[in-house]
Amino acid sequence: MMRALIQAGGAGTRLASITRNIIPKPMVRIGGKPILEHQVSLLTREGIRDIAISISKSGEAIPDYFGDGSKFGCRISYIREDEPLGSGGAIGFLPPSEEETLFLFGDLMLDISISRFLAFHLERGGMLTAFAHPNGHPYDSDVLLLGKSSLIKGILGKKVERTDFYPNLTNAGVYILSPKLVSSFGKPRKADFEKDVMAPLVGERQAYAYCSPEYVKDAGTVDRFEQVNEDLASGIIASKNLSKKQKAIFLDRDGTLNVFGDFVTSPEKLFLAPGAAEAVKMINESSYLAIVITNQPVVARGETSFEELDRIHMKLADLLGEKGAYVDALYFCPHHPKSGFPGERKELKIECSCRKPKPGMILEAAKRFNIDLASSWMVGDTRQDVQTGINAGTKTVLLTSGDQRNNPLYEKSEPTFVAYDLLEAVKKILG
Ligand SMILES: [Mg+2]
Ligand SMILES: [Zn+2]
Repeated sequence: MMRALIQAGGAGTRLASITRNIIPKPMVRIGGKPILEHQVSLLTREGIRDIAISISKSGEAIPDYFGDGSKFGCRISYIREDEPLGSGGAIGFLPPSEEETLFLFGDLMLDISISRFLAFHLERGGMLTAFAHPNGHPYDSDVLLLGKSSLIKGILGKKVERTDFYPNLTNAGVYILSPKLVSSFGKPRKADFEKDVMAPLVGERQAYAYCSPEYVKDAGTVDRFEQVNEDLASGIIASKNLSKKQKAIFLDRDGTLNVFGDFVTSPEKLFLAPGAAEAVKMINESSYLAIVITNQPVVARGETSFEELDRIHMKLADLLGEKGAYVDALYFCPHHPKSGFPGERKELKIECSCRKPKPGMILEAAKRFNIDLASSWMVGDTRQDVQTGINAGTKTVLLTSGDQRNNPLYEKSEPTFVAYDLLEAVKKILG
C-alpha cells in the first residue's frame, strides 16, 4: 500500500536529562517501549511493511534493537549518512517506487488512521500532504495558511512579526510524499525538510494540509515527555485514532465561547467569555473533541463578509491559543431563511439544512470525525442550541450566563442539565 521513511537522526539535546546523551531520542521509552517501537507497531498495524529508518552516527542502538524488522512483522532498512544531510536529505537514499511514502520524525508519539490520511492525499493528488493540527501555542509556532480544498497557500514563520490575526494550524511532522516528489528529489543532498522540500511546493500549488484531531505529539522536551507518558497510560493516544468512534463537545459560539452582546460583525466585537479558554483547554486534554457550531446570519444579511468572518474566527483561535486552548473544528451556517432586507445576499437567503436547530453542522462533523453522537454533548446559551443537540441525538447543556432572551419557539426544549457558564458545564461533563 505504501512505504515509510522515519527520520530518526536528529540530535536529542533537549531530552538530555532523560537520555543522559546515551541513547538516541527515538529510543527513549514511553510506557516501557521506545517511541520508535510505538511507531513501527502503528505502521505495521496500518499495513505498512517496508520501513526505512535514517539514523545518525550515534544512532546504532536503533539497528541493534530492531534488526531487519522481522521480529516486528515488517522489513526495516537503515540509511546512514556519512555526513549529516539535514532532516530531508535521507529522501535521496530511497529506491524508486510507484508507492507513496509516509515520512515522519522519530520523536513523535502518534496514533493516526494512515488509511484515512492516504485517501485524502490521493484524492487531492498533490506532491505532498502535511498532517496538520492546532496546538496550544500557535503564537510561537510556524502556522499554515490554507486556501480552497486545504491547499497550503503559505507558511507564516514563527519569527515573522504578526500584524493581523492568524490561524491555529501547525505541521505535526508527518507527511505523505508522492512517488513523483521522491523521484524528483534526486541524489542524496543536504536538505532541510520544511525549508527545502516542503516550502518550494507551497508556491507551486502542490502541497495540501490534512487537518486532523488525532494524537501526534513530539516527546522532545521533558514537559512533553511527561505529558505523553500520562496520555499513553490514560488511553487518550489510542482513543483519538479516527478509525475509532469519537465523542465531542459541540460548542455554540456567541454567548458560550465569547461574550454575548451585539452581533459580531468584525473581530473588534469579539471578546472571550470568562473561563471559556480554561474550559476549552480542559476539553483538549480530555478524550472529547471541541467543535464549534454557530449560526452566522450576519453574512446573509450583508453585515459581514466571508473574509471578515474568517478573521473573526482567527481572532477567536488566537485568544484561545494565548491561553493554551484550541478548537478542533468550526462549522458555521451563513444562511438566513427570511429575505427582503436591504443589503442582503440573496444567494444565502435560503432554507438550508445547517441553520440551528437543524442538525446539519453536527451531522457533517460526525461524519468527518467518526463521532458517536449519543455520547457527545451540545453546549449553548439558548434553547435553540438545546433543540439542535436533541435533533442530532446528543446530550445537551443550557447556559444561563449568555443570551437571556427567551425564544417561545423552543420553550419546550429541555436540556440534560443547566449550568451557569461553559467552565461549569465542562467540569460537570468531564466529572
Ligand atoms: Mg449563543
Ligand atoms: Zn445554513
